[in-house]
Amino acid sequence: MPARNGFALEKLLSNRIFEEKNMAFELPPLPFALDALEPLISQSTLEFHHGRHHLAYVNNLNRLVPGTAFEQASLEEIILNASGGIFNNGAQVWNHTFYWHCLQANGGGAPEGALALAINRDFGSFEAFREQFTTAAATLFGSGWAWLSKDRDGKLIISQESNAGNPLRSGLIPLLTCDVWEHAYYLDKQNRRPDYIADFWKLTDWKKAGLRFESQGSVI
Ligand code: MN
Repeated sequence: MPARNGFALEKLLSNRIFEEKNMAFELPPLPFALDALEPLISQSTLEFHHGRHHLAYVNNLNRLVPGTAFEQASLEEIILNASGGIFNNGAQVWNHTFYWHCLQANGGGAPEGALALAINRDFGSFEAFREQFTTAAATLFGSGWAWLSKDRDGKLIISQESNAGNPLRSGLIPLLTCDVWEHAYYLDKQNRRPDYIADFWKLTDWKKAGLRFESQGSVI
Protein backbone atom coordinates (compact mmCIF):
# COMPACT_ATOMS: atom_id res chain seq x y z
CA MET A 1 0.00 0.00 0.00
CA PRO A 2 1.48 3.40 -0.87
CA ALA A 3 2.08 5.78 1.98
CA ARG A 4 0.04 8.88 2.56
CA ASN A 5 1.14 11.79 4.60
CA GLY A 6 -0.88 11.27 7.74
CA PHE A 7 -0.35 14.74 9.05
CA ALA A 8 -2.10 17.60 7.37
CA LEU A 9 -2.85 20.31 9.88
CA GLU A 10 -2.63 23.11 7.41
CA LYS A 11 -5.24 21.35 5.32
CA LEU A 12 -7.61 21.13 8.24
CA LEU A 13 -7.13 24.74 9.20
CA SER A 14 -7.66 25.98 5.68
CA ASN A 15 -10.62 23.61 5.26
CA ARG A 16 -8.95 21.86 2.40
CA ILE A 17 -9.72 18.25 1.70
CA PHE A 18 -7.03 15.64 1.77
CA GLU A 19 -5.99 15.05 -1.82
CA GLU A 20 -4.33 11.68 -1.65
CA LYS A 21 -6.75 8.79 -1.57
CA ASN A 22 -6.58 5.21 -0.45
CA MET A 23 -3.11 5.46 0.92
CA ALA A 24 -1.78 4.13 4.19
CA PHE A 25 -0.97 6.36 7.11
CA GLU A 26 2.69 6.30 7.99
CA LEU A 27 4.84 6.92 11.04
CA PRO A 28 6.44 10.36 10.70
CA PRO A 29 10.11 10.47 11.70
CA LEU A 30 11.16 12.12 14.93
CA PRO A 31 12.35 15.70 14.36
CA PHE A 32 15.53 14.91 16.34
CA ALA A 33 17.95 12.01 16.91
CA LEU A 34 16.90 9.26 19.31
CA ASP A 35 19.52 10.36 21.83
CA ALA A 36 19.00 14.10 21.35
CA LEU A 37 16.91 14.58 24.49
CA GLU A 38 19.24 12.64 26.80
CA PRO A 39 19.38 12.61 29.75
CA LEU A 40 15.98 14.21 30.28
CA ILE A 41 14.16 11.81 27.94
CA SER A 42 16.27 8.75 27.22
CA GLN A 43 16.94 7.06 23.91
CA SER A 44 15.24 3.98 25.33
CA THR A 45 12.06 5.93 26.06
CA LEU A 46 12.05 7.35 22.53
CA GLU A 47 12.70 3.93 20.99
CA PHE A 48 9.63 2.56 22.74
CA HIS A 49 7.46 5.66 22.61
CA HIS A 50 8.03 6.46 18.93
CA GLY A 51 9.14 3.10 17.55
CA ARG A 52 6.59 0.95 19.40
CA HIS A 53 3.69 2.99 20.79
CA HIS A 54 3.35 5.60 18.06
CA LEU A 55 3.94 2.95 15.39
CA ALA A 56 1.27 0.70 16.93
CA TYR A 57 -1.31 3.49 16.63
CA VAL A 58 -0.37 3.91 12.95
CA ASN A 59 -0.64 0.18 12.30
CA ASN A 60 -3.93 -0.11 14.19
CA LEU A 61 -5.38 2.77 12.21
CA ASN A 62 -4.34 1.24 8.90
CA ARG A 63 -5.98 -2.02 9.98
CA LEU A 64 -9.23 -0.38 11.14
CA VAL A 65 -9.92 2.19 8.42
CA PRO A 66 -10.36 0.06 5.24
CA GLY A 67 -14.01 -0.51 4.45
CA THR A 68 -15.24 2.34 6.66
CA ALA A 69 -16.42 5.88 5.95
CA PHE A 70 -12.89 7.03 6.87
CA GLU A 71 -11.13 5.21 4.08
CA GLN A 72 -10.20 8.49 2.42
CA ALA A 73 -10.19 10.73 5.48
CA SER A 74 -7.32 12.79 6.79
CA LEU A 75 -6.26 12.43 10.42
CA GLU A 76 -8.00 15.69 11.22
CA GLU A 77 -11.26 14.47 9.68
CA ILE A 78 -10.92 11.32 11.75
CA ILE A 79 -10.33 13.34 14.94
CA LEU A 80 -13.36 15.51 14.26
CA ASN A 81 -15.77 12.81 13.15
CA ALA A 82 -14.74 9.31 14.20
CA SER A 83 -15.42 7.38 17.39
CA GLY A 84 -14.19 4.18 18.98
CA GLY A 85 -11.01 2.57 17.76
CA ILE A 86 -10.65 4.71 14.65
CA PHE A 87 -10.84 7.89 16.71
CA ASN A 88 -8.56 6.55 19.44
CA ASN A 89 -5.82 5.42 17.08
CA GLY A 90 -6.16 8.31 14.61
CA ALA A 91 -6.02 10.90 17.38
CA GLN A 92 -3.08 9.15 19.01
CA VAL A 93 -1.17 9.24 15.71
CA TRP A 94 -1.80 12.98 15.42
CA ASN A 95 -1.18 13.71 19.11
CA HIS A 96 2.19 11.97 19.13
CA THR A 97 3.43 13.64 15.95
CA PHE A 98 2.41 16.97 17.46
CA TYR A 99 4.08 16.13 20.79
CA TRP A 100 7.42 15.36 19.13
CA HIS A 101 7.27 18.79 17.56
CA CYS A 102 6.72 20.36 20.99
CA LEU A 103 10.14 19.12 22.13
CA GLN A 104 13.59 20.34 21.25
CA ALA A 105 17.03 19.42 22.54
CA ASN A 106 17.88 23.07 23.09
CA GLY A 107 14.39 23.98 24.19
CA GLY A 108 13.04 25.34 27.41
CA GLY A 109 13.11 28.90 28.62
CA ALA A 110 10.11 31.06 27.90
CA PRO A 111 8.16 32.11 24.81
CA GLU A 112 8.79 35.43 23.11
CA GLY A 113 6.76 37.78 20.99
CA ALA A 114 3.00 37.60 20.55
CA LEU A 115 2.63 34.32 22.46
CA ALA A 116 4.49 35.75 25.46
CA LEU A 117 2.19 38.77 25.45
CA ALA A 118 -0.90 36.57 25.20
CA ILE A 119 0.30 34.37 28.08
CA ASN A 120 0.75 37.45 30.24
CA ARG A 121 -2.66 38.74 29.19
CA ASP A 122 -4.54 35.48 29.83
CA PHE A 123 -2.64 33.99 32.80
CA GLY A 124 -1.02 37.01 34.45
CA SER A 125 2.56 35.84 33.95
CA PHE A 126 4.59 33.06 32.37
CA GLU A 127 5.20 31.58 35.81
CA ALA A 128 1.46 31.53 36.54
CA PHE A 129 0.81 29.89 33.17
CA ARG A 130 3.47 27.25 33.77
CA GLU A 131 2.08 26.48 37.20
CA GLN A 132 -1.44 26.07 35.82
CA PHE A 133 -0.30 23.86 32.93
CA THR A 134 1.88 21.80 35.30
CA THR A 135 -1.12 21.25 37.57
CA ALA A 136 -3.25 20.19 34.59
CA ALA A 137 -0.57 17.69 33.51
CA ALA A 138 0.10 16.40 37.01
CA THR A 139 -3.52 15.96 38.08
CA LEU A 140 -4.88 14.33 34.95
CA PHE A 141 -6.16 11.03 36.29
CA GLY A 142 -5.00 8.03 34.28
CA SER A 143 -3.75 8.44 30.72
CA GLY A 144 -4.04 11.55 28.60
CA TRP A 145 -2.65 14.87 27.53
CA ALA A 146 -2.31 18.42 28.85
CA TRP A 147 -2.79 21.06 26.17
CA LEU A 148 -2.31 24.74 25.56
CA SER A 149 -4.61 25.88 22.78
CA LYS A 150 -6.08 29.06 21.43
CA ASP A 151 -9.66 29.66 20.48
CA ARG A 152 -10.77 31.38 17.29
CA ASP A 153 -10.41 34.76 19.00
CA GLY A 154 -6.81 34.04 20.05
CA LYS A 155 -7.62 33.50 23.73
CA LEU A 156 -5.36 30.92 25.37
CA ILE A 157 -6.85 27.87 27.07
CA ILE A 158 -5.25 25.09 29.15
CA SER A 159 -7.11 21.78 29.06
CA GLN A 160 -6.83 18.18 30.13
CA GLU A 161 -7.83 15.47 27.67
CA SER A 162 -8.14 11.85 28.72
CA ASN A 163 -6.82 8.99 26.59
CA ALA A 164 -6.63 10.15 22.96
CA GLY A 165 -8.51 13.42 23.46
CA ASN A 166 -7.62 16.39 21.27
CA PRO A 167 -8.74 20.04 21.56
CA LEU A 168 -9.56 20.13 17.83
CA ARG A 169 -12.79 18.38 18.85
CA SER A 170 -13.67 21.50 20.85
CA GLY A 171 -12.92 23.87 17.99
CA LEU A 172 -9.58 24.91 19.50
CA ILE A 173 -6.19 25.22 17.81
CA PRO A 174 -3.49 23.28 19.69
CA LEU A 175 -0.26 25.14 20.46
CA LEU A 176 1.54 22.82 22.89
CA THR A 177 0.98 19.43 24.46
CA CYS A 178 2.51 17.23 27.13
CA ASP A 179 1.88 13.48 26.90
CA VAL A 180 1.20 12.21 30.40
CA TRP A 181 0.54 8.58 29.51
CA GLU A 182 2.86 6.52 31.70
CA HIS A 183 4.63 5.18 28.62
CA ALA A 184 5.97 8.72 28.08
CA TYR A 185 8.07 8.62 31.23
CA TYR A 186 7.97 5.27 33.01
CA LEU A 187 11.31 3.94 31.78
CA ASP A 188 13.08 7.12 32.91
CA LYS A 189 11.05 8.27 35.88
CA GLN A 190 8.90 5.28 36.91
CA ASN A 191 5.89 6.81 38.71
CA ARG A 192 7.39 10.28 39.14
CA ARG A 193 5.21 12.20 36.69
CA PRO A 194 6.09 15.57 38.30
CA ASP A 195 9.78 14.98 37.50
CA TYR A 196 8.90 14.25 33.88
CA ILE A 197 6.83 17.44 33.67
CA ALA A 198 9.71 19.44 35.15
CA ASP A 199 11.96 18.08 32.40
CA PHE A 200 9.29 18.78 29.76
CA TRP A 201 9.75 22.49 30.57
CA LYS A 202 13.48 22.15 29.81
CA LEU A 203 12.70 20.74 26.36
CA THR A 204 9.72 22.82 25.30
CA ASP A 205 10.00 24.18 21.76
CA TRP A 206 8.59 27.65 22.38
CA LYS A 207 9.60 28.84 18.93
CA LYS A 208 7.23 26.42 17.24
CA ALA A 209 4.49 27.12 19.79
CA GLY A 210 4.89 30.82 19.02
CA LEU A 211 4.62 30.21 15.28
CA ARG A 212 1.46 28.19 15.86
CA PHE A 213 0.00 31.03 17.88
CA GLU A 214 0.82 33.61 15.24
CA SER A 215 -0.56 31.56 12.37
CA GLN A 216 -3.89 29.86 11.93
CA GLY A 217 -2.07 26.62 11.39
CA SER A 218 -0.39 24.27 13.78
CA VAL A 219 3.25 24.30 12.77
CA ILE A 220 5.08 21.03 13.01
MN1 MN B 1 2.45 8.61 24.21
